[in-house]
Order: sequence, then C-alpha cells, then structure tokens
Amino acid sequence: MKKVYSHESIVTINHLRNLLEAQGIPAMVRNDRLFGVLGEVPFMECWPQLWVLDDLQADYAGQVLHEAMSAPDSEAPEWRCPACGEHVEGHFAVCWNCGAGHPDERSAQD
Ligand SMILES: [Zn+2]
Repeated sequence: MKKVYSHESIVTINHLRNLLEAQGIPAMVRNDRLFGVLGEVPFMECWPQLWVLDDLQADYAGQVLHEAMSAPDSEAPEWRCPACGEHVEGHFAVCWNCGAGHPDERSAQD
C-alpha cells in the first residue's frame, strides 16, 4: 500500500478515492477517524490520507489525481516540492505526492 495524497478535507479525499476507483485503482482512505483528536498530534498527521492498495499503481494514481485537479484556468506557477522534489501545479497548496506544504505558504504560517 502506498499513500498518494493527503488533504485537510475528507470530502476531497473521498471524492478522489472515487475517482481512482473509477479508473480501476483500488484505494482506501485513512485517518478519517482521527479528526476528533486534531491538536493532539502533528497537524499534517491528522489529515485524511488517500492510499492505493497496489504500490505498482501509485504512479498512475498520481497522474489521475494530477489531471483531475488541474484547473485549466489556473495561472499560478508550478512549484517544486521541497520534500520530495515533485513538480506541483501552482493552485495546489500542498504537494500531491507527499503532502508537504508550498514553501512560501509554509514560511508565511511560521
Ligand atoms: Zn512532495
């Protein structure tokens, strides 16, 4: 099993899970029950996570998510994830691959 995405919204995660399964990629959501303890564990650890059951499908799942969330009207510049080096569409606040925050937004929050 491999984590392909995390997001603060369980609604988004469930939507993306449905999307993956529609593409023939078995996926599951984790952390959906941890929401009640937000504040007691590190912030990102609480976020609902989307996992694919088959590691071999993780790359394809990433492509599906990438395309699904690419808004054609987005003009924000692509950025490079400081944690894993993936290229991330500019309208994403977090890396689709590892969930790390946008470098600018992270410094703004500090
Ligand atoms: Zn990353």
